[in-house]
Amino acid sequence: MSDKKDRFEGKLNIDDLERSVIEPREYGKEDRFRFRCYPGIPCFTKCCSGVRINLTPYDIWRLKNRLQMSYDEFLNTYTIPSSIDRTPLPIVVLKMQEDEEKTCPFLQGPEKGCGVYEDRPSTCRYYPVGRAHMRKVDEPELREFYVMIKEDHCLGHKEDKEWTLQQWREDQGADDYDEVTKDWLAVVIKAKSLGITEFSKQSLDLFFMVSSNLDMFRRFVFESRFLEAYEIDPETVERIRNDELELLKFSLQWLRFTFFGEGDFKVKEEAKAKAAERQKLLAEARKKEFEQREKKAAEDLEKLKSMRGKK
Ligand code: SF4
Ligand code: SF4
Repeated sequence: MSDKKDRFEGKLNIDDLERSVIEPREYGKEDRFRFRCYPGIPCFTKCCSGVRINLTPYDIWRLKNRLQMSYDEFLNTYTIPSSIDRTPLPIVVLKMQEDEEKTCPFLQGPEKGCGVYEDRPSTCRYYPVGRAHMRKVDEPELREFYVMIKEDHCLGHKEDKEWTLQQWREDQGADDYDEVTKDWLAVVIKAKSLGITEFSKQSLDLFFMVSSNLDMFRRFVFESRFLEAYEIDPETVERIRNDELELLKFSLQWLRFTFFGEGDFKVKEEAKAKAAERQKLLAEARKKEFEQREKKAAEDLEKLKSMRGKK
């Protein structure tokens, strides 16, 4: 289900966990392992307290729909703001209860287990498998592989049920989750692999909106000049207006385009010209402000010199 460290949606970097709990081996999709988790196993739900669970955009969408809440209601009730490990990228994490064990709010007790099982977050879904990315100095591309997390309290590894890693992913619905969030993950992985640690406030605000609150993104698209700025065909506009999951995927594609220019969004020529004009005005305003500051500094210096001369 989950561990006591920041496992970031199963796409952990090896540094994210204590090395002692990660088996020192790279797994491929056809590699086999033994594991079984079921109600009745003595450790059942032991992994559902004292955990940090980062929520992806798809996790939030599934959970708020299951709980029949608006985004604002869900975020206010069940999350706290945080950031993705080793980046300033803002996300939300599941808010654990205030009891001594810091129990997950969705745990329904040691017998019943997870109360949102079909819509449990990616982190819980992928456990005990983690997806990792690494690039050696002489490799041009990031390489993806899997790791196995083996924590002492988790007895599932002692069971006989054998899987290939791909069979496990299919059983847990991991491929579906990855498919929806692939553009969002591409942004995160690229930011991490390029070691980008500084983003403008505007970029961070956009990232947070797209990652956490689709209601806000919907208003951004349909109640601002968004549709005037991009060439988007009418069918797509209708699709994202009427289908929330399509809007979610669209938002993640747009985020990727906005952050790294990847994807087939086209900014309208008119909007480009307006943006260039805005940049020009901004640059002129900054230049003017700089010149005024320099002039003021020169005047202050002159005043100081003349005061010294009088003494
Ligand atoms: S969401 Fe479900 S599986 Fe995940 S920690 Fe909470 S109770 Fe456990
Ligand atoms: S087997 Fe592992 S994942 Fe399953 S309940 Fe036990 S500790 Fe949690």
